[in-house]
Amino acid sequence: MALLQISEPGQSTSPHEHRLAVGIDLGTTNSLVATVRSGSADTLPDATGEHLLPSVVRYLTDAEPVVGRAALEAAASDPLNTIASVKRLMGRGVADIRHIGETLPYEFVAGESQMPRIHTVSGDRSPVEISAEILKVLKQRAESTLGGELTGAVITVPAYFDDAQRQATKDAARLAGLHVFRLLNEPTAAAVAYGLDQKPEGIYAIYDLGGGTFDISILRLNRGVFEVMSTAGDSALGGDDMDHAVANWMMQEAGISGSAGRGELRALAREGRRVKEALTDSDVVNIELNQGDRPWRGELNVDAFNRLVDPLIDRTLVPCKRALRDAGIKADEIDGVVLVGGSTRVRRVRERVESFFGKPPLANIDPDRVVAIGAALQADVLAGNKSEDEMLLLDITPLSLGIEIMGGMTEKIIPRNSTIPIAKAQDFTTFKDGQTAMSIHVVQGEREMVDDCRSLARFELRDIPPMAAGGARIRVTYQVDADGLLSVNAREQTSGVEAHVEVKPSYGLTDNEIETMLKDSFAHAREDMDARNLREQQVDADRLIESVTAALAADGEELLDDAERTAILAALANLEAVRQGSDLQAIKQAISATDAVTQDFAARRMDAGMRKALTGHTLDEFTSGK
Ligand code: ADP
Ligand code: MG
Repeated sequence: MALLQISEPGQSTSPHEHRLAVGIDLGTTNSLVATVRSGSADTLPDATGEHLLPSVVRYLTDAEPVVGRAALEAAASDPLNTIASVKRLMGRGVADIRHIGETLPYEFVAGESQMPRIHTVSGDRSPVEISAEILKVLKQRAESTLGGELTGAVITVPAYFDDAQRQATKDAARLAGLHVFRLLNEPTAAAVAYGLDQKPEGIYAIYDLGGGTFDISILRLNRGVFEVMSTAGDSALGGDDMDHAVANWMMQEAGISGSAGRGELRALAREGRRVKEALTDSDVVNIELNQGDRPWRGELNVDAFNRLVDPLIDRTLVPCKRALRDAGIKADEIDGVVLVGGSTRVRRVRERVESFFGKPPLANIDPDRVVAIGAALQADVLAGNKSEDEMLLLDITPLSLGIEIMGGMTEKIIPRNSTIPIAKAQDFTTFKDGQTAMSIHVVQGEREMVDDCRSLARFELRDIPPMAAGGARIRVTYQVDADGLLSVNAREQTSGVEAHVEVKPSYGLTDNEIETMLKDSFAHAREDMDARNLREQQVDADRLIESVTAALAADGEELLDDAERTAILAALANLEAVRQGSDLQAIKQAISATDAVTQDFAARRMDAGMRKALTGHTLDEFTSGK
């Protein structure tokens, strides 16, 4: 294999021992578990031969929760205790849920933490606990099939998942008793499943249309290294919408009015799904509706179906264009397109994707299983079963990570779409004489001003030895690990004092929010730059005013004559006045004027300082370096 391995501590193994490791696709609609056996990766079926486990959990009064198909079937009769699509709630806060929650039937209760819980007959359950139930079933399935305990798992997450969502996924795995080797982006897993890592280089688009979500990712493979160039998507678009489009069509044809009850609508959507899936293999499907007072018989052919789903497919092409633009490439520069997600079985989807990218997509691996298979290949490497192979999978940060600097501005430390794992450091200094603490504010976003970005964490570096302003050298390091989790470290270089924070925000951003933040940053780029330039000048002005004022107080009497003092005070007064306004040029000029008029004073102070320092010492002490 051409990839380089990110080796995890303590994981080198003896070459003969095969360690049981799995890849898990924890999906919104369906979840799967896969493993590598005798050199090839495949998904594992349950006792009845089903590979797909519906991601649905039903809580009961006095028994263990039911997961999968049986739970799905109870969704209609027991909606409050049967939780579907819990992935949408992972890592989200109470406030986020309020938006998503309106469309969900569950009873939400706000817990002590930011994490929302769902009220069920067996108590209040968090999204992390609910996901853990799904993972437990998959773990159990793998252990009974493989006949042993698992060393670990690679769990896939959408590329756009933020810190909180990734953390929540890891927490769920821990709760299910799984050791997580690492989280892996879903598109990257799909690319690995197709062995694209074997190629020397190329740019690939991963088109993932699932039950309720659409994701597009552009990956670049270069010299054996995978890099996610960009991602985009729509978190409310998928196969379910196709089911509803067919259901609506049936209602119109059958003359079922909009007064259909909730249960009836669910049944119609189920029938819509059956018809849709059947049209993948046949050109026409017979329909019989026995609901309501009058039964209806009809048929839907593939042309009419295509007209129903075309507007939905159109909506997937909008993020496709954006992802190409973000990656800075044209559709014809894509070397291959990988189809992921059950909804890419729809023939019309394949046709439209082919004409959009101008080449037939890769689809010979089952699009439901391809993500789990890629994850299993990666798990096999991380378990140490392929110790000679090298493998490095790089993912990206969806938004820039920055730090607040003087004047409420942000300085980007890790720019968005950086490949991870990544560590970047930047040096900062103190603003005031004798400053002994520095407040570090970690933000995420593209805008220039902190108020327009999202605050991730704040912490303080204390016990900085007192020095003149600008004397301390504080190195701030941002590190994003292979799972996409951020930690920030600040260290004063001369004294070695240090402070550290692991960023675990209490709730995450929705991908729509990420998108909005990106759009905002494009829309405001010009005015942001202007605001930033002005703020920078104002900060410079403040710094100068402060240092000149302090110098005057300390040495003004001693080192300056009256005329010099008056000239400096006049320059200072002018600077203070223009600094209040927003005339960038005027502030710049006032800064240079003040600089010029204080230059001699500064030189004299330095001489005086040197003389003071040398008093009472012999020159020997300095030259011998003691
Ligand atoms: P998720 O990633 O959201 O967990 P999946 O990748 O499992 O979802 O995709 C589920 C969707 O795929 C459902 O909408 C389902 O109807 C659709 N699907 C599955 N099989 C077919 C098929 N043969 N033809 C059309 N759609 C299908
Ligand atoms: Mg999926």
